[in-house]
Amino acid sequence: MRLSRYFLPVLKETPAEAQIASHRLMLRAGMIKQASAGIYSWLPLGYRVLRNIERIVHEEQQRAGHIPVLMPTLQSADLWRESGRYDAYGPEMLRIRDRHDRDMLYGPTNEEMITDIFRSHVSSYKDLPMTLYHIQWKFRDEARPRFGVMRGREFLMKDGYNFDLTKEDALHAYNRHLVSYLRTYERMGLQAIPMRADSGPIGGDDTHEFLVLAETGESEVFYDSEITDLKFGDREIDYDSVQQCQSVLEEFTSRYARTDETHDPAIFDQIPEDRRRVARGIEVGQIFYFGTKYSEAMGATVQGPDGKATPVHMGSHGIGVSRLVGALIEANHDDKGIVWPWEVAPFQVGIVNVKQGDATADAACDALYKELTAAGLDVLYDDREERAGAKFATMDLIGLPKRITVGPRGLEKGVVELTDRRTGESEEIKPELVAAALA
Ligand code: ATP
Ligand code: MG
Repeated sequence: MRLSRYFLPVLKETPAEAQIASHRLMLRAGMIKQASAGIYSWLPLGYRVLRNIERIVHEEQQRAGHIPVLMPTLQSADLWRESGRYDAYGPEMLRIRDRHDRDMLYGPTNEEMITDIFRSHVSSYKDLPMTLYHIQWKFRDEARPRFGVMRGREFLMKDGYNFDLTKEDALHAYNRHLVSYLRTYERMGLQAIPMRADSGPIGGDDTHEFLVLAETGESEVFYDSEITDLKFGDREIDYDSVQQCQSVLEEFTSRYARTDETHDPAIFDQIPEDRRRVARGIEVGQIFYFGTKYSEAMGATVQGPDGKATPVHMGSHGIGVSRLVGALIEANHDDKGIVWPWEVAPFQVGIVNVKQGDATADAACDALYKELTAAGLDVLYDDREERAGAKFATMDLIGLPKRITVGPRGLEKGVVELTDRRTGESEEIKPELVAAALA
């Protein structure tokens, strides 16, 4: 992308309404624009990051064997009356009436709708296990929308639902989700720690939240510092293997790590004092096992091997896709701006032409731009008639992992400069070696 033809409305001033770094930086870097309280338009740069996160979530869900679908944002109130949640949900639910006076709602989650799909089409245990998921906008009329996309009213969520014949099978689905979530967040360059949590309005007994440690997080967390040394890494997991998923779960959850709702000082105090941590975290996902709560209320049964109808065991599993954009910035920024991890970066490489209009510099930039783009990299070429200092400031603000600086002086020596955004380290390199260096 040539910046002269792009739409990147960066702000010079720090917006007064933004209280935390990620919100400030998203506004300054022209990633989002508030439409109304807790509701945002995604501008081109922000949209690219959102898409990258979505892509990773899709890939990891499908690697775990989960099947993508897409359900609507608007739902019929009658479905929610069946489960009893239409009245129970409270003022966070946005209730709408259509022209025929039918009660509708903008979905805050989809347990009822997916259960309805299931009961309409599945009647035999032979079709199980099954996990369906989608990535769709949700609406929750939050009392205090704040921190930009972190606590929006309209937000993008991946929500998945497993259907299993037995509790054991459903617990395997739970463990499988835990494993696939660990891998999902790590691929984004984030450490998200699974913590025992409270199930809230979804209901159920078993639940873990995934938290990214950050001072600006809204949750108070208590953990054994050893848990932060755990890495999922590039281990190969057979998601069908009960034993493998179980052992990863045990590895990542058998230390103490809890949110304030489930915190137990008596157990916490048994951890050696120098390892006890009280900190803050951002919830980026949650998994639930809730058994037959919805299947019984809504008649989602299958015929078991014995020929008897039996309600399916279910769980639901969410990832805060749009919140992750903010969480990633909270975990990856410095005083100059954002520092994107490679996998989610809106562009991986920025080219800065320090002397736009100089024939040699322009030609070298054009050649590099074409070559790197052809090599499959997303490249943002700053070809504006601007001072070099302003171009550097923009690149630092928007946080692309690598910057190539091209100017007549370097080109005379036959080199350009390759700079790493995170370390700030630069090296002079021949232009023809840049593609290999980035590969
Ligand atoms: P919270 O406790 O932060 O209100 P929740 O527990 O109600 O969240 P879940 O039902 O678990 O949310 O939803 C799954 C994920 O969706 C959460 O882990 C979070 O990352 C994201 N999420 C929930 N509410 C919001 C929101 N208002 N804005 C942005 N993301 C959200
Ligand atoms: Mg939650």
